[in-house]
Amino acid sequence: MSLDGILANLNPSQQAAVSSFADTLAILAGPGSGKTHTLTSRTAWLLAQGLQPWNIIVATFTVKAAREMKERIGKLIGNGLESRLVLGTFHSISRRYLARYGHLIDIKKDFGIADTSDSLAIIKRIVKRNQFMIDPKVARGRISGRKARGEIAEDTGGKKKPVEIQEFEICYEEYEAALKRSNLLDYDDLLLRCVDLLRNHPSCVSNVEAVLIDEFQDTNIVQFDLMRLFAAQRKRITIVGDPDQSIYGFRAAETKNYGRMLRQYPDTVTIALEENYRSSGSILLTALAVIEQDTSRVSKSLSPTHSVGTRPVLRQLANAHKEAEWLLSEVQRCMGMSGDLLDLNDFAILLRSAALSRLIESELGKAGIAYRMVGGLKFYDRVEVKTILDYLRTIGQPDNNDSLSRIINTPSRRIGETTIKALLEEADTSKISLWTLILGIVRGQRITKVKLPKQTEQSLSIFVNIILTAKIKIADQESRCSIAQLIQFVIDKTNYETWLEEHHAGANKGRWDNVQELITQANDFERSDCDDDSLPLVDGVEQEDDSDMLSKFLANVALASEVKSDQDEGAPFAQLTISTIHSAKGLEWPVVFIPGAYQGSIPHSRSEDSNEERRLLYVAMTRAKALLYMSFPIKNSQGENSTLSPFLEAPGVAPFLNERGPLFRSSTMQSIAQILRRPLPSPGSISKSSSCLRSDEDDLFPVNEDDNNANAEENWKWAGKQAFTKCQRAPIRERVELGRSTS
Ligand code: ATP
Ligand code: MG
Repeated sequence: MSLDGILANLNPSQQAAVSSFADTLAILAGPGSGKTHTLTSRTAWLLAQGLQPWNIIVATFTVKAAREMKERIGKLIGNGLESRLVLGTFHSISRRYLARYGHLIDIKKDFGIADTSDSLAIIKRIVKRNQFMIDPKVARGRISGRKARGEIAEDTGGKKKPVEIQEFEICYEEYEAALKRSNLLDYDDLLLRCVDLLRNHPSCVSNVEAVLIDEFQDTNIVQFDLMRLFAAQRKRITIVGDPDQSIYGFRAAETKNYGRMLRQYPDTVTIALEENYRSSGSILLTALAVIEQDTSRVSKSLSPTHSVGTRPVLRQLANAHKEAEWLLSEVQRCMGMSGDLLDLNDFAILLRSAALSRLIESELGKAGIAYRMVGGLKFYDRVEVKTILDYLRTIGQPDNNDSLSRIINTPSRRIGETTIKALLEEADTSKISLWTLILGIVRGQRITKVKLPKQTEQSLSIFVNIILTAKIKIADQESRCSIAQLIQFVIDKTNYETWLEEHHAGANKGRWDNVQELITQANDFERSDCDDDSLPLVDGVEQEDDSDMLSKFLANVALASEVKSDQDEGAPFAQLTISTIHSAKGLEWPVVFIPGAYQGSIPHSRSEDSNEERRLLYVAMTRAKALLYMSFPIKNSQGENSTLSPFLEAPGVAPFLNERGPLFRSSTMQSIAQILRRPLPSPGSISKSSSCLRSDEDDLFPVNEDDNNANAEENWKWAGKQAFTKCQRAPIRERVELGRSTS
């Protein structure tokens, strides 16, 4: 596409950012202002200017965002070059560098990646072995926190360390040793070790000509260092971000990074984008009223480009069960009343914590509504899928004790828990991996202290044989089998299907489907994704071949921060999305529900940073394009009394809210269609079923609720202000009534 084509349909500020000659450019702007859109267009612009895609690094925050961005760039340039960009999350980009150059800093080729649950399992073992008092989860969080801050040692100010800190230090040390023995890097290591690599071997990135970073507000200090190192040769950097959407403080994200950026690159040109293209006017103004309660923030200007639309809904329900029922009935009503204007893909339920999803999932299940889970129970964490992945990991990276110990007796081979534990302990004490130990036993090269009955020895031997045969199958240069075939081999050799059937009777069907889904994913990966994985060859640096297909596949699995329920994005039918707010960052949906908007959930009772919690609600609200529903139960799911989130109760917010969903009059439909840039629904598609209609009483609802002409907009703002002054001290329900009666 031509340069003009890339700039078409952008506003003047966006155009200025895309075509800027500045070497370091910062775009700071509110939600929905087109930051990601602009970053994508700038990448396309650089490609159109003649930069080679493999010399451009684009870092995004989620795998989904990376995929979407690549697609959009592809559409803009239309020559397939986007697949050669070094584009992905910080973690996946770092992994690629370590796979290629890790040997320069003594990282063994084909290292594995320890995900959060692997890390926790290792720490639990250390805590148990040493009989420590420390909570393994707390220890894991602290280790990760320290790594994310790039800190080396705990500073105790020269004082004698309390027991807890001593325990933690030992735990940290043993954890690092265990990772090393198993040839594993955890998520934080991927970044830290990549910093280490690039600091000591800057020529690995001598080819890089431009670095672009989305969601800069959520980068931590290690990621900032990485950005600097990527751009060390040619300081051409573009960052986009919004401090109001910084929600990863708990993971050591540094809002100070923007200040660092200005100090490090004093010539940085900052551009603001001030128009919101995502949400209806009422959704945007309500969200702004929430964020503006934070007096410490630097205020930005952000105005809607869409009409007022339908006011956001705030509903109070008797309990969490009723809340889930109401939510489901609203989804069904919206679907019925809006005809073919909306389908299930347009709906998202955003939760402060994944734990809130149980009741909602059960209601959706009862009603037969298809949904995908994002950021909750991961597909790859499901036991039947994890077992197969553990086999693959053992085949590719046998020194990984945790995977090996999970499958050594799955499906059952009559190797008892006690035996496995004893073998693990022996391996740990001898400072060798479990695999080396059992291989030695089976080959008669090692005498173990663990007493093994004849049958156990035989079982071990059969197991080792399966792994060794599989290793040959996948490594064979001439006739390497595919990953899907490898999975099939494991299934056949272990009688996995029969075992699943016997072991998980009833639930087996869904489980077996998940295993099939994994095979499909492996096939898709080999066909497409893995091509994008390689880095360009750089002169003058010793580099290894790219890691093999199995390692790439396993890394891809470990780094997929979000995977859906039983079906993937490309499911042939529409699905509603359930996501944590954190995982919804950067995304948008026509209809958004935020249940559980009560004190204790948001702000969360365990959170120490109330401003971050407010920003979290702001992020959730600003994901909505046309309709926004918020709700809270008077009795929460633990049966405790709860009150509305103070962020929504604050003066200035309540008058914007309504207690009921839209009436779907023709003006409502027009406004939704306009915001979504879709044609109006065909009359035949609108449900006439009485369950979708409201009773007469509901028609008392303010008529101008969904008007969208300029006059109505003025009325609406005026009404909001009037209601606000009248009801500052009224309880929420009354306040909503007041808001209604004056509008
Ligand atoms: P967030 O802060 O939530 O990540 P953002 O600033 O990155 O938001 P985008 O996701 O890039 O915003 O854009 C929001 C929506 O607005 C997208 O649907 C995008 O296609 C659309 N959009 C952006 N710029 C324009 C424009 N100039 N004209 C029309 N639509 C636009
Ligand atoms: Mg964005």
